[in-house]
Amino acid sequence: MRVGVGVAPRIRGRARRDRLFRQDVLQRYGWICAVPGCGCRVNLEVDHIVPRSRAPERRWDPDNVVPLCRGHHRLKTDGIIKISGKAPDGTLIVERPRESRDRALV
Ligand SMILES: [Zn+2]
Repeated sequence: MRVGVGVAPRIRGRARRDRLFRQDVLQRYGWICAVPGCGCRVNLEVDHIVPRSRAPERRWDPDNVVPLCRGHHRLKTDGIIKISGKAPDGTLIVERPRESRDRALV
């Protein structure tokens, strides 16, 4: 039966592409959070250094993604830390912006 042919494979293909991209990012960093000194190996999430909303063309750019543990991902999303640079060749910069220094870390 050929009902649905062309729909399901596209969905599976996208999910597979997302999964392979995530695995590639995690593997390049040795399955560890990219924030120096963190060492977390669980609950890793792929984060775009330049957000997809600002640079949709860099969604699949391997130089624009890093694995972050859930805690560091939340700190970045909330603006407590800032990540810049180019991944994963050692020029990644993690800093705490001046405007966030007065806020308490949770
Ligand atoms: Zn971390």
